[in-house]
Formats: sequence, C-alpha cells, structure tokens
Amino acid sequence: MNQIRKIWPKIDLFSLRVRLTIGIAAVSALGLSSFAIWTSWKMQQMLIDGHKDKTAQIANRLPRDLQLYSQVMSPEAGLEKAIGDFKNTNTFVWIRNSENKIVIKSTNWNQLSDSIETELMSLTEMSNKPEIGKINHRYFVLCGRYLQIQGKTIGKLFVVQDVTYEQMMFLAMVQSLAIGSILTIIVISVAIAFYIKRALQPLLQLSQMTEVISAADLPEAKIYIEKAPTEVKELAQTFNMMLSRLSQSWEQERQFVSNVSHELRTPLTIVHGYLQSVLRRQNNLTPTQQEALETAASEAERTIRLLQDLLDLARADSGYLQFTMKTCVLNDLIVEVVSMAQKYSDRIIMIDLIAKSVEVRADYSRLQQVLLNLIDNAVKYSDADTAITIKLIQQNEEAIIQVCDHGYGIPLQHQSRIFERFYRVDEARTTSKGGCGLGLSIVKTIVESMGGGVTVRSKLGEGSTFTINLPASLNCS
Ligand code: ADP
Repeated sequence: MNQIRKIWPKIDLFSLRVRLTIGIAAVSALGLSSFAIWTSWKMQQMLIDGHKDKTAQIANRLPRDLQLYSQVMSPEAGLEKAIGDFKNTNTFVWIRNSENKIVIKSTNWNQLSDSIETELMSLTEMSNKPEIGKINHRYFVLCGRYLQIQGKTIGKLFVVQDVTYEQMMFLAMVQSLAIGSILTIIVISVAIAFYIKRALQPLLQLSQMTEVISAADLPEAKIYIEKAPTEVKELAQTFNMMLSRLSQSWEQERQFVSNVSHELRTPLTIVHGYLQSVLRRQNNLTPTQQEALETAASEAERTIRLLQDLLDLARADSGYLQFTMKTCVLNDLIVEVVSMAQKYSDRIIMIDLIAKSVEVRADYSRLQQVLLNLIDNAVKYSDADTAITIKLIQQNEEAIIQVCDHGYGIPLQHQSRIFERFYRVDEARTTSKGGCGLGLSIVKTIVESMGGGVTVRSKLGEGSTFTINLPASLNCS
C-alpha cells in the first residue's frame, strides 16, 4: 500500500478526474472486449464450425451409404467401398464391432504419426455431437455414432477430422486479438486520462484563482479564464457576480462598523471625561457611589479602547489608516514604551537591547501602540511574580523585537488563529482580563502595513514569545 502511495502520491480516488477516467476507460474496455469476444466467436464459426458440420454430416451419411451398399453387395464389400471413399481426405474413419474390436479403418492414416493413430484408435467412446479434441499437440473434430445396418447394430462408427491448421490459426488470431485489445485499452485509457486532465484544467484554474482572493481583494477581484468551455465560463461569471455582491456587503459592513465606532466613541469619551472629573472632585460621595463611578469609568475606558481598535481596523481595511513613516531608533522607542507600560502596571519589565542602535522606517506612535499591546498581553496572561522581557536584535537586514513572558502560554492549535479578529483562546480567562480579542489583529495589521511581520512561539504553562520583524534601515550605525 505504502509502495503504491509512493508511486502515485497524488491520486485522489474521489476526484472527478480519476472517476471520469476510470468510468470512460471501463466503458471503452467493455466495448472493446465485447467486440473481441464477438470477433472470436465469428472466427470460430468461420474456421472450425464448418468442419464440425462436415464431420457430423459424414457420421450421419455413412450409415445410410452402408445401408444402400448392403442391398447390392455383401456387408464387408459395402464397408470397404464406403470407407474407401476417404482415401484422399483428412477425415479418418474406423468402425469397432460390438466386441470392441476394430473391424475396418480408412486407408489414409499414413498422414498421421503412429502415436497419434494409436491414441485415436484407443478411444472407445466419442460424443454424438462433434467436439474438438487435442491429441499429441494436434487438434481433431471427433464424432461417434452407433452403426446399424438393416436394423441390426453392428458396432460403433468413429469419424475424426484433422483441424490442426484451422485451430492453430484460430488460437493465433484470438491471441493477437487479445493482445491488440489490451494494448488499445491501455492507449485509450492514457489518452482519456490526458484529455480529461486538459478538459478539467479550467476548473483547476478557477479554483486556484478563487483560493487567493482575500477580503481585501474583493473590490478588484475578477475571475477570467481565457480558454475554457462555456460551462466553466458561465461558472466564472457566476463567481464574479457573487464576488461583487460579497464586496458590496463587505464594504457596507466595514462602513457600518466604522460609523458606529465613530459615533459611539465621541459621546463615550465625554461620559468618561465627566466621570473622571466627578471622581477627582469627590468629597461627598459614599463608598458605594464612588465604587459605582469607578466601575463606570473603567468600563467606559475599555469600551473607548475597543471602539478605537474597531475604527483602526475598519480604516486599515479600507486603506485609510494613516502612517507617518520616519526613521525611528528602536532602542530609544523600547525604553520609552517600557517606562510608559510601567506607569500602568507594577510589573518588572526587563530590557535586553543590542549595543548598537537599530533603525527602521516606521510610524513611531503606531509602533509604540504595537509594543504596548504586546506588553499588555504579557502582563495580562502571566502571573504577577514572573518576569517580562523585551529584546532587540538585528539579523542581517532585519530588526527583531521580542516580547517574552513566562505566563500561561497558548495551546498549539490556537497559535495560528490568535491574530484573527475577536479570537480568544479561553473566553472565561480572557474576559476576566478585560480583553476583547482585537489587540493582536491590530498588531498584525499595523506591523504588516509597515512592511514587517509578527509571529508567536508559545508553550503551554511555560510562556510565550511574540516576535516582530521589521526591515532595518541601511544607514544604521
Ligand atoms: P485580548 O484583548 O483578548 O487580549 P488579543 O488579540 O490581544 O485579545 O489576544 C488574543 C488571545 O490570544 C487572547 O485572548 C489570549 O487568549 C491570547 N494571548 C495573547 N497574548 C498572550 C500571551 N502573551 N500569553 C498567553 N495568551 C495570550
């Protein structure tokens, strides 16, 4: 089985291509073999059946001839005369009496070898219906009859006809026909396989073209296949119409998210501002009132952040996220971000920087936002007594920033999905940490928009490392 897999690693038995090939090849094979069988049957009729009929006729006629001769001459003389007629033929005749002794035989046996003659003569029974028999590599039509003269059974008549040449010819033709048919079936199958492969090529093209269409490509996405059958062209047309409807609804959804985020953010910022000012001037608030206001302020702040993230993502999707690209020294940026992060949390964040300064072309504040997001996650998803480290290295023409924690880690099956919008590993745990599953998708969007990439390496219970790669500026010192 493994061997077969090695030879045909890509054969999918459920694919249309394989099924059509097998189906058409099977039908062709059936048609061809039926034709070959019919031809063989016809050839047998032409070559052998004539001899069978002739043998049967002789076996039927001889008793009648003997009957006639017996009326004009003695039985022995009649026998001699009737059997003598086969002198120059390839039909061999002999008669056994009731004691199983050969009474008379035709005089043409010198055409056959002694061993064949002995073998034929030793036969005591032959079927009434002519049959083909093989004796010493030669073929004969054999037929036997009880011989009656004037109502008296005088023995048994054996009529044998040599059909070696015809039978050999028949077998040789059947053999050639079989080989020819097998070769034709193989050639037809290969031709069909190639034809079907070519015929299905446009479908494969269609699937490859649709496979690479992402949400961002929807507005311009168009499928066009030049050389394709009408059905596939129609399918491509239907796909195009579907893509255009998808693009419209995607655009509407983006617009809706953007509008809603924008409309909600402004009043919420005002509410948050009022709550902060009330809390700052609190003199006569009861502890319950103060707690309620603090909860309201923190929830308002969380929602503002969420709306800002949604707005950023909607802008990035429509290509309106603004970037002010300039040369940034990553060493300084990291020190600044860490000091900002430490204002909001009492965690120790260690910095491990390369000695030389690493410069990249990036949007300074967006990069800050990225690092703050990653540090925020590292703080949220690790115990308070574990360390968080930010490393900066340069490898060839790449600046690499790593945010490492020794926290809960991310199970392997979730690692490829955490950069998706609203994707959270453990709903219960992340909701309690105040997350909404947008942070990492913002990180990915921003980093990729600046020409970089972000990856994660994590082990459950041991911690996670988020790595950002950015193209380093060539004039780095
Ligand atoms: P959230 O706002 O929920 O933190 P993110 O997009 O920032 O959303 O992260 C997505 C999910 O990835 C989180 O819900 C969390 O389960 C997981 N995650 C992110 N960073 C870490 C980390 N440093 N350690 C463990 N899990 C993490």
